[in-house]
Amino acid sequence: MREKYGVPFIHNYPSISHRCIQKAGAKLKFPFNCHNRTLPFHQMKLFSYLNKAFNGFPSSSKLLLVFSLSGGGLVAYSESQSTSATNNTELERLANKKKVVVLGTGWASASFLKDLDISSYDVRVVSPRNYFAFTPLLPSVTCGTVEARSIVEPIRNIVKKKNGEIQFWEAECTKIDAAKKKVFCRSSIEANLVGKKEFSLDYDYLVIATGAEVNTFNTPGVVEYCHFLKEVEDAQKIRASVIDCFEKAILPELTEEERRINLHFVIVGGGPTGVEFAAELHDFVYEDLVKLYPMVRDLVSITVIQSGDHILNTYDSRISSFAETKFARDGIDVCTGCRVLSVTDKNVNMKIKSTGEYVPVPHGMVVWSTGVTTRPVVKDFMEQIGQESMLLTCMAISALLSGMQGKRRVLATDEWLRVKGYEDVYAIGDCATIDQRKVMEDIAAIFKAADKNNSGTLNVEEFQDMIDDILIRYPQVDLHLQSEHLSSVTDLLKDPEGNARKEIDIEGFKLALSHVDSQLKSLPATAQVAAQQGAYLSRCFNRRELCKTQPEGPRRFQGQGRHEFMPFRYKHFGQFAPLGGEQAAAELPGDWVSVGRSTQWLWYSVYASKQVSWRTRVLVVFDWTRRFIFGRDSSGI
Ligand SMILES: Cc1cc2nc3c(=O)[nH]c(=O)nc-3n(C[C@H](O)[C@H](O)[C@H](O)COP(=O)(O)OP(=O)(O)OC[C@H]3O[C@@H](n4cnc5c(N)ncnc54)[C@H](O)[C@@H]3O)c2cc1C
Repeated sequence: MREKYGVPFIHNYPSISHRCIQKAGAKLKFPFNCHNRTLPFHQMKLFSYLNKAFNGFPSSSKLLLVFSLSGGGLVAYSESQSTSATNNTELERLANKKKVVVLGTGWASASFLKDLDISSYDVRVVSPRNYFAFTPLLPSVTCGTVEARSIVEPIRNIVKKKNGEIQFWEAECTKIDAAKKKVFCRSSIEANLVGKKEFSLDYDYLVIATGAEVNTFNTPGVVEYCHFLKEVEDAQKIRASVIDCFEKAILPELTEEERRINLHFVIVGGGPTGVEFAAELHDFVYEDLVKLYPMVRDLVSITVIQSGDHILNTYDSRISSFAETKFARDGIDVCTGCRVLSVTDKNVNMKIKSTGEYVPVPHGMVVWSTGVTTRPVVKDFMEQIGQESMLLTCMAISALLSGMQGKRRVLATDEWLRVKGYEDVYAIGDCATIDQRKVMEDIAAIFKAADKNNSGTLNVEEFQDMIDDILIRYPQVDLHLQSEHLSSVTDLLKDPEGNARKEIDIEGFKLALSHVDSQLKSLPATAQVAAQQGAYLSRCFNRRELCKTQPEGPRRFQGQGRHEFMPFRYKHFGQFAPLGGEQAAAELPGDWVSVGRSTQWLWYSVYASKQVSWRTRVLVVFDWTRRFIFGRDSSGI
């Protein structure tokens, strides 16, 4: 800012030309004697030169000089006035900017910040992590296929793109006070540095994007004896630990059984993360480590424990069975239908669900990957919402608010990603779930709005007039049409025998839409959802003023007018499951499943293209190339 406003001052001086100063200065008489003693030699020479020059000048020139200088002074003065006026305007503009506090630097927040137009917002970001991590490549970091630094982008690089106007603080939000529109934060820097660690921030809009944490299901021993695979540090610890297992296993004077136990790697959880890690580990062991530790080659074993009947059970069944067959071929044990009850330093204690048998599984290392749960700060916020609703005297509102968050595991938002009960608080990514409004909750209002002539029945034209708004507001209607293979929405109006009806009353309308809400599903906790939500929210923020006067959303069935914005709509682009040995499985839109080596190459190209910067893209591709040529690094660092 200072540089910007400093520029006119610098440019004013040349407006009195050099020659003019020289000539005018030649006639100047300056009473500088008293200062001469302190002036350096070159300045003394300059002043005596200007003195002589000024004295030799005619009076008209002296006047010109005085006017020029005073004029310059005036210009400078007026510039300074206009600068301070502009400064004031700028300050006013800044003061008028709405304060947006963003919690987190993960997928959701990075995508929100990337596209946000900050000209009308004063944006502050708080996160204990000063970088963005490309989580889908974390399993590759555990075995050194990709280096940790290749998949992270400093958040300040993202902030920098916005001319530094987004402020970032490396701290953890410890409390959200939505009533006072304040968040309380604590620096997570542990070093012994001076100054307070705690601070608070006011906001006009709060964007909660704190993600989730590992869910241990309170299983005893998990925190103490298991590795997690959630953060970059976790992946680095796993990498060091795998090497430790090998180094320990080859020490002299160990029995073969001890070596075997040290080299037994157990993965709890057969979801995408657990399966991908098992595949990476298998490749690392058999492509690189056994060459360096040939004496223990036959003692290594990898086991995946899964409580469900299949691994990758959220994928298409073809992918799930392909993965199981491949793992069986590779010698990776998959124990399905087993529940882990506790973990000790020696054993993973599990129960086989079908037989009720308890089995201790000795291990060298355990990776716990069974899903995620709410972070404490979000849990606390949800409890506050529950308590606030209890304090409300109006029973109807109280019931409404507690129903909004009460029994949920993550923050519930509406379809515009606003936390239910708070207009100015948004929650995106893994920390939130969209509570899609049910058609049945609004059925009477929809009918009333559609029944333009108040006849008590709807005809096809009236229904068609309303249908676009219904489809936008309730995406489950579209899903129902697809699942029932109905080509047109008017098919919904057919009677139970399938005959077209000209008119339908409220009871018939309720019946026609009664199955629609069963299509409602929560969105998965994935980077894809988080990134799309961040991008959607920044678009809403960028169009806030415009949409106030020109709302773009569907008609309000409960109330007047239209919604300001279109509701968030997730677009699924498919999902991958790398299975090791240069093979992957992919589930793509349109019920298309692809498995094998070509899918692995598709995986490489998609993940290279999805990198957040050219720097990480180059680093990741370089790491893959390095691994192809030299193999993975087996040092324990
Ligand atoms: C190993 C692994 C592999 C994965 N692979 C895939 C994949 O292939 N495809 C896919 O779609 N998804 C994948 N996911 C899931 C994906 O990573 C998450 O869904 C995604 O990270 C969610 O984004 P988010 O922004 O909600 O949370 P995150 O990306 O977890 O970011 C949360 C941010 O909040 C910060 N934070 C935490 N607590 C606080 C606090 N109290 N105050 C302020 N900030 C806080 C964190 O430091 C972090 O910066 C994978 C996840 C893992 C762990």
